[in-house]
Amino acid sequence: MLLFDIVFNGNDKMYAEAEEAVNAAIAKYGEEKAVGFPETAYALAAYYAETGDKITNLKECKEGLAYIKTQMPRERRLDSVFKSGVATALAAEILEVTKYIDGDPYEGISEGAMTDAQLRELGVPLVVYDIPCVALIIHAAPSVQEAVDLVKSYQSQGNFVCLVGGIIDQLKEANYNMGFNVRVYPIGDNISCAAHAVSVASRVAMVFGNITPGDKVGLQKYHFERFRCFVNAFGPLDEKTVACGAGAIYYGFPVITNDMEYTPSVPKSLIKLADVSKFNKASLEARNIKIKVTNVDIPVAFATAFEGEIIRRGDMQVEFDGSRVDSFELVQTKELTEIEDHNIEVIGPELDEFEQGSKNGIAFVVEVAGKKMQTDFEPVFERKFHAWINGAEGVMHTGQRDMIRVRVSKDAYEAGFRAKHFGEILYAKIKGEFEAVVDKCQVKVYTDQAECTRLRHELAQASFDKRDERLSNLTDENVDVFYTCILCQAFSPSHVCIVTPERLGLCGAVSWLDAKATHELDPEGACQVVPKEGLIDENLGAYESFNEAVHKYSMGALERITMYSIMVDPMTSCGCFECICGIEPFSNGVAIANREYAGMTPLGMTFPELASMTGGGVQTPGFMGHGKHFIGSKKFMAAEGGIQRIVWMPKELKDVVADRLNATAKELYGIDNFADMIGDETITDSDPEALVAFLTEKGHPALGLDPLM
Ligand code: SF4
Ligand code: ZN
Repeated sequence: MLLFDIVFNGNDKMYAEAEEAVNAAIAKYGEEKAVGFPETAYALAAYYAETGDKITNLKECKEGLAYIKTQMPRERRLDSVFKSGVATALAAEILEVTKYIDGDPYEGISEGAMTDAQLRELGVPLVVYDIPCVALIIHAAPSVQEAVDLVKSYQSQGNFVCLVGGIIDQLKEANYNMGFNVRVYPIGDNISCAAHAVSVASRVAMVFGNITPGDKVGLQKYHFERFRCFVNAFGPLDEKTVACGAGAIYYGFPVITNDMEYTPSVPKSLIKLADVSKFNKASLEARNIKIKVTNVDIPVAFATAFEGEIIRRGDMQVEFDGSRVDSFELVQTKELTEIEDHNIEVIGPELDEFEQGSKNGIAFVVEVAGKKMQTDFEPVFERKFHAWINGAEGVMHTGQRDMIRVRVSKDAYEAGFRAKHFGEILYAKIKGEFEAVVDKCQVKVYTDQAECTRLRHELAQASFDKRDERLSNLTDENVDVFYTCILCQAFSPSHVCIVTPERLGLCGAVSWLDAKATHELDPEGACQVVPKEGLIDENLGAYESFNEAVHKYSMGALERITMYSIMVDPMTSCGCFECICGIEPFSNGVAIANREYAGMTPLGMTFPELASMTGGGVQTPGFMGHGKHFIGSKKFMAAEGGIQRIVWMPKELKDVVADRLNATAKELYGIDNFADMIGDETITDSDPEALVAFLTEKGHPALGLDPLM
């Protein structure tokens, strides 16, 4: 059979299944029955991105199918093959949504549809190449071992791996740890689940890329140029899978398969390869991905994909817990002569000597020297310890400074992981990432409890105090320059963050010190100096030089920007913001939702819905994406009255920001316990009138401020 016919047949089959499922659902529930995937503002995102229409009920599913039918030409031409490929994916998405009518069909089995919040979480790792690529693996590998080896090969490069079909069972059989947190994402058992991967790509284009739903050409171009994805499909390939593959190739995602039977090879698009061990290299090459590896000399795997790994108590060999036993981590600048490069010293007992499951103290002291080293970089390096140490498979790290907790799993211990390997990790990463300023580095790992206690008080505390003082003196007024960050332009071509001491990047990951360090390390890179010149309006935070900077770095997409207003020329959002705030008209204030919050807000929108109001690097007055830490800042929408405008936020977020928020409210407005005046979901999660009643009772200042609109 010819490829044309295989694709057309596969398309017909998927379509017929979707039609049958929709008809059956209509017979059971009626046409008005609502349909949708969990926690997304983009409905059936693949369909929405292609057509501009949101499918929200069964009637619209039926209309959607009627439209898809018009996109299934049967001329034996390449463009018909591509159209049918896309039509197959869209039909699959409709088939999938019918499965969600009675709740999550994959609960307890696999992951199914990805939420918007998860997708946004991938934003920064994707743009900084922490996640070099998204791999979609379909069907069972020839053997369990080959399945494990292939997935591990991608995972250990940091790639995000999505799985569909038999390979999921193979990994389960091998007891392979899967989940969003470790970047191995089992979608579901059926080929129609590939639609969820297409949905991810489509949402990335809309969320970050500002691709207008329905702009078919823009969508295809965005995928082709920016979304680094490929498909590995194990044979024997059935017709439906081949049809989906045609859709993938149309979007620019190469397909690599071991089915040597009937598919012709097309360089860079469709690659036949019998040897599964060669899939990794061939796939990355086909998508032009070069992976930078830092060789870390430890006995377990090391990759960013392991950052999210959780080690449970029962799986733990030893724990270091800074909340119970003195612990800390510290970077210290030294003279070049004081350091012997790559010297790693363990001071105290090795892990063998700790009782299994015991709680202990640990201290990491990393000493660096370099002609271009500045003490301002110390906290920048130090904050990375968390991600670096987490990158070792079987090692977990939380917290920072003297509130750290580190766990080493039994598996990692048995593989030979010891205290000195913490030093190897820290050394390799410091030298790898900061070689522009670090000429020499040595690491001391203290496991001696008395030394941990002594040094925590004699050494670490003084450094932390000094840094806190430096940070509290860092204000927007007393620095000469701000910095741009344009990392997110990889996905949001016109987005520019301007990072100031009092306004960190909206992703929450880039502070002014980070941006400064990034600039010193790579003067031509993402962070450029923005001077403060040509004051236009102090209250708004408007300067000629800021306008020039955004104009230049957005490639002309933006003309003006203000630092402190959410109404007048506000800063743009890319899509990976930690929080979003929007105007709540009844109370004359703003409500904030964080990415982790799954519920409703008094604005009548969930986080994903609020988030979908802005993004893609365009200015949207009235909405602002921002970092969590910005909430307690004196510059938080300062032009409109500042933090006194905050009337609602989820309780969990409030708990995180309360201390800083209260301190700022006290200092600026003389208000005590301001956080208690702010509504949350325990007061109301959806009723603006109940919120106003609560605010009135508390005497919330927003009620007395000038109207926002
Ligand atoms: Fe993206 Fe802005 Fe964060 Fe830079 S600071 S990574 S541009 S969100
Ligand atoms: Zn971003």
